[in-house]
Amino acid sequence: MVPLTPEEQAYIQSIGPITVAPDPDWVPYEYVDEDGDFTGIAADLLDLVQERLGIEFTYVFPGDWGVILEESRAGNVLILPFLNQTPDREDWLVFTEPLLVDPSVFITREEHPFIFDATGLTDESIAFPVGTSLEERVQRDFPNLHIVHVERENDVFQAVANRSADMALRPLTVAAYTIRKEGLFNLKIAGQAPEHYTNHLRMGVLKEHAMLRDILDRAIATISHREREEIVNRHVNITVVQAFDYGILMRLVVVAGILLMLTSYWNLRLRRLNAALAESERSKSVLLANLPGMAYRGLLDRDWTMEFVSEGVKSLTGWQPSDLTGESAIRYASLIHPEDVEVVWQAWSGATESWQPVSVEYRIRTRDHKERWVFDQGVPIGRDSSGTPIIEGLVIDITDRKHAEKALYEVSIHDQLTGIFNRRHIFNCLNDMLIKAAREHTGLCVAIIDLDHFKTINDTLGHGGGDTVLRGFAQRLKASVRPYDLVGRYGGEEFIVAVSDVDLPTAASMLERFLEQMNADGFEVAGEGLKVTFSAGIADIGEPGTEPLLEPLLARADARLYAAKRAGRNCIVTSD
Ligand code: GH3
Ligand code: MG
Ligand code: MG
Repeated sequence: MVPLTPEEQAYIQSIGPITVAPDPDWVPYEYVDEDGDFTGIAADLLDLVQERLGIEFTYVFPGDWGVILEESRAGNVLILPFLNQTPDREDWLVFTEPLLVDPSVFITREEHPFIFDATGLTDESIAFPVGTSLEERVQRDFPNLHIVHVERENDVFQAVANRSADMALRPLTVAAYTIRKEGLFNLKIAGQAPEHYTNHLRMGVLKEHAMLRDILDRAIATISHREREEIVNRHVNITVVQAFDYGILMRLVVVAGILLMLTSYWNLRLRRLNAALAESERSKSVLLANLPGMAYRGLLDRDWTMEFVSEGVKSLTGWQPSDLTGESAIRYASLIHPEDVEVVWQAWSGATESWQPVSVEYRIRTRDHKERWVFDQGVPIGRDSSGTPIIEGLVIDITDRKHAEKALYEVSIHDQLTGIFNRRHIFNCLNDMLIKAAREHTGLCVAIIDLDHFKTINDTLGHGGGDTVLRGFAQRLKASVRPYDLVGRYGGEEFIVAVSDVDLPTAASMLERFLEQMNADGFEVAGEGLKVTFSAGIADIGEPGTEPLLEPLLARADARLYAAKRAGRNCIVTSD
């Protein structure tokens, strides 16, 4: 809980209901579900804010986004809960710190190469909804891309899937969600758009209520990176999909699956059927054999007993259909990664109470002991004679997409030049470390480090030589601390180190040793020896008379760094 001062409490009382107008149609951020309930990532984040402050929001839904903006501008609602800050909106709103930072990504079809630098793309098209402000910016930044217009925001995904455009640009969370939810498995996330396309989704509060904004900020500061991640995952890794539409193909598959099983069970009877039916049987089994994945029918038991699996099982797992069905079959459960068995079971538990379709992602092991990621969509269709639920579905290989997502995540948290963590990731981690230190009353010290006379190094060695020094310095710095200490590039030639569970003198002596080492052995760049020194400021979260908050902590370390510079450089300052 964030404590409010008596004045703040009186102020909250005085403003009456705190009206909040979310966008009713912006999945998975904020939307109204089929029961009329406000839901989504923003809804969960706002729940945390309410809980931390002990206040309650009054949600209002005056209309679509256009209407909401008008109502807000007219002063009829207090808060717009989840939007980017723009100069235009600053006319009437003040903004909190971001509830969520969501990078924008390029979405392409599976076969498209990864995009590391979109300015290098030529003769490709990008889909945009009509009338977005982003379009102008994209045209300026990537003049080689040509624009294909679609009606609505989420139509861009279909446009890429059906080849009317080569790519689209959307927030990462929206992209991951939509690709899964709509089963657009020929799409992938191909690269991250430049930093200035990142969405900083904040609460916008009417200008005259800046005090409310400040109160909200204090609650937002208590939301940890992990809590955000959990909320996003909860909405993006949709394990149970309501109102899942199988589409014609899936219905055909289910029908064909049943018919095929009839074939094996009642062969005799079927043989008497006429030639026309035989022909339609054949075409259905051809369809099943050519499915991109494994269609199955089995029992919802701990073994995942399979009654039928389609030919696709061969390319997916390396096993033959007959290996997984019949008397001495290999249990499908034994192919599921041991760490994921429970996840899959949980996803299905409850499915037979509601008879809802289920989709779940997990790892399997193939016949030649390789690991693969799969997406399994299925539905319970009834019970066998012993009462065990019967399920049918389709399992698709999503290994490439999983690897791409992982690679993209790694790129997004590391600094390109030095390979250590980048500023954004450092802030996320610091936020978590701080919350943990405050909760568990453990120490946390932060050092900001700035290389001395780096301009001279650049002037002597050239920018490339300077880069080599930065890389080498980052590696040595990382090697000088404990493996679990946090080391990142703070900016240009500034670095940051955060160490938990130590007091300030200990942290200082760790860094002293490193400074001595830098003074003792220089760098070798292009055959020349070069001495590189640094100045640093260190601050401790537990210093008496200070607040345990990130900004003041960094400000203290920064002020001490400048004191170190003024004191002649090549030294470390630990107090004001
Ligand atoms: P001081 O001792 O006061 O810190 O002096 P300084 O020369 O290091 O001064 P300052 O911190 O103001 O300058 C930092 C320089 O680092 C300026 C900038 O050109 C250079 N720089 C920033 N980022 C990079 C980079 O990625 N590569 C290279 N080679 N140089 C960089
Ligand atoms: Mg500097
Ligand atoms: Mg410097």
